[in-house]
This record gives sequence, C-alpha cells and structure tokens, in this order.
Amino acid sequence: KPFIIIGAGILGASTAYHLAKNGAKVLLIDREDKGQATDAAAGIVCPWISQRRNKAWYQLAKNGASYYSSLIPELEKDGEKDTGYKRVGAISLHTDSGKLDKMEERAYKRREDAPEIGEITRLSEVESKKLFPYLDEKFASVHISGAARVNGRALRNALVKGAEKHGAEVLQGNARLEIEAGKVVGVTVGSDSFLGEKVIVTAGAWAKELIRPLGIEFLVDAQKAQIVHLQVDEHETAELPVVMPPNDQYIVAFDEGKIVIGATHENDKGFDKRVTVGGLHEVLDKALGVAPGLEESTVSETRVGFRPFTPGFLPVIGSLPNNDEVLVANGLGASGLTVGPYLGFQLAKLALDQPLNIDLKLYPVSGAIL
Ligand code: FAD
Repeated sequence: KPFIIIGAGILGASTAYHLAKNGAKVLLIDREDKGQATDAAAGIVCPWISQRRNKAWYQLAKNGASYYSSLIPELEKDGEKDTGYKRVGAISLHTDSGKLDKMEERAYKRREDAPEIGEITRLSEVESKKLFPYLDEKFASVHISGAARVNGRALRNALVKGAEKHGAEVLQGNARLEIEAGKVVGVTVGSDSFLGEKVIVTAGAWAKELIRPLGIEFLVDAQKAQIVHLQVDEHETAELPVVMPPNDQYIVAFDEGKIVIGATHENDKGFDKRVTVGGLHEVLDKALGVAPGLEESTVSETRVGFRPFTPGFLPVIGSLPNNDEVLVANGLGASGLTVGPYLGFQLAKLALDQPLNIDLKLYPVSGAIL
C-alpha cells in the first residue's frame, strides 16, 4: 500500500519527493485549488534578520534555509534544473542608521551558528541604489550574501517531477478521507478508492474541511495575499538582490525584467480569490515608496494565494491524536517557502519511522486542535 499524500503545495511535493527517493510507494493527490499558497508565492529565503523571537520557529526557518544547499543539487542530479531557486543575496533597507546597526548586530550574532548567512556588509545609500537601481536614494542597507529568492511554482514542479522520476504516482482530484470504525484506511477521489499505508495531510489552508469528518476541528486559517508581477524594460535583472524594506512587503527580481512586489496580509477574508482595489493600492503604494524607479514598469499579473496559518503562527507536524495513521503538517504561514522543503523532508522521515532532525515536541499538532 502506498503512502497517500493529500496536497501538492511545497510541503506535500517535498514529502512526496523524499519518500519516493527513499524507495517508498507514494500516491500524491492534489485538487489544484486556485489560490494554492505555493503557486502564488515568489519569495525570499532570508530568515536570519527577522525580529521574530519565537525560538522554535527560528530553528525551523534556519534549518529550512540551510537545507536548500543540499536539496537543489539533489534535484539537479535528478535532472530537475529549473528549481526557481537562486542565491542572489538580499539588502535590508532603512533610513535610520541606529536600526541598521541593530540589524547588522543581529546578523553577526546569528551567523555564529548559521554560517550560511554568508557575508554581511553595510552599504551606503549610493551603494544600495547601485545594487538595486530602482530604489529611492534615501535608503542605506545591510547586505546578506547568503539570502536567496525562490519561485514557489517552479520549485513545486521540480519536486513533483523529481518524485515521479523516483516512482511516485500523481493524481489530480478532490480527496476525501475514507474512515472505517473511526480509523482512516485510505482516501476516495471521485468514485475511486485507494487504501493507504498512512495518509499524510499537507492540504494547507484547506485542511480544516478535510479533517472535519474525523470529528476534529483543525485550527488552520487562510491569510489572503495579493502579489503583483511587473515587467521592466531592462532585461539584466537576474542578479538583482532581494529587497527587504522597513515595511511588511518585499521586492524580488527574476530573470528577463520580471520584478515581483508584495504581498498583502489579509486576515478574515476567507477564500476570497479576487484582486481588489485596496490590495493593489497597498502593494503599489508600499513598493513605490521604496522603489520609485518602478513607476514606469508594466503590470503584467496579480496573483492571490492563501497562506495557511495555525495558532501562534507556528508550524505543526505529527500524527493526529487518536488517529496515528494520519500524519499532518501545516501552518507554514509567511515563511513556507523557507521552511516547506525541509519540513517535508522531516515529514517523510516521520512516515518512515526514521529519526528526525527536529524536536517534534516543539511543533505539536495538538496546538492546532480545538
Ligand atoms: P499550499 O501551497 O496552499 O498547498 C496546499 C494544496 O493542497 C493545494 O494545492 C490544494 O489544492 C491542496 N488540497 C487541499 N485540500 C485538498 C483535497 N481535499 N484534495 C486534494 N488536494 C487538496 N514563504 C517564504 O518563505 N518566503 C516568501 O517570500 C513567501 N512569500 C509568499 C508570497 C505569497 C503571495 C504567498 C501566498 C505565500 C508566500 N510565502 C512565502 C508562504 C508560502 O508560500 C506558504 O507558506 C507555503 O507555500 C504553504 O505551502 P503548503 O504546501 O502548506 O500549502
């Protein structure tokens, strides 16, 4: 019987890849919901200068960022060269030199056990603008050479294709849990039933409804994010660093003049997939306040995604209480591209009863159950 994985965002795709690579039988099912967080995310991997104090979160984010350096070569060995990942560095901006001092201090402190941060360099206003020409000249910055950008869609596709190369089966459809005498024995997709060795739920913001038939109220919610893709005339954008302004949004450049700005953090909007005037206004306003040089760029696309978040914004991983045949991981929130590949690696180990590299007690599933 296969391990059945429900949800092929970054987390499910990574779990499938690692399980299949270990020689396990895998069935990966995805409904391709519009608003899949991974599909909308174009993002940054730079957890080290975050001011978030939660140690359990930081541990996961730090390990997640560092895990890319082994995962990407592994995928490339499997022939998956288009991973959407590139270590381009990041500049974290501020106009207040005291704030930049603190940021620099934090980076040096964190580098003691995270050498993957790379070089830390203080840049003047002129030097910052030289690295990212669209910037307002009022910002100085701290440059972090180990930071990276990643295209969620590309990485997910690479992981799914990699999993298939190692024998995983992939199915498009709406999966429901098949329950017998209170235990999950498999899943149903349309009129087809599949028995599973274990069922692994990586269904992101939609996991609540999937788990509910077990009588469990799983506390995951959707945080809506609107993110705007721009096209600039210059085509040499591939090496531009990620820009982290002093607000809650960011600017990420990709190849051939594509620059992505965003994203909003909208709570209590449910699964509203619309691009709204307010959302666009906020994203454009914040981006132009930092990088007025983008004013003449073309708006090419706006994506909407739903970040899955659990209580305390802390990811959870483990089996469901009273249903240890069901494994769950969720709550990747705003740092799921950073954490997702690594957490999927850990989830695969958990499914295979192998020793983990994280302390499960720090991320209890019970913390996300009413
Ligand atoms: P998802 O990617 O949402 O995948 C869940 C999947 O499960 C979906 O495909 C859905 O269709 C499927 N599913 C659900 N129910 C069923 C069912 N019953 N049957 C079959 N399939 C089902 N993170 C960073 O680290 N850095 C960033 O810069 C960053 N930027 C972001 C920007 C945006 C705009 C967004 C939206 C997110 C960003 N994130 C970032 C966060 C990151 O993208 C998410 O945390 C992560 O992608 C969540 O992955 P997931 O696999 O848990 O869920």
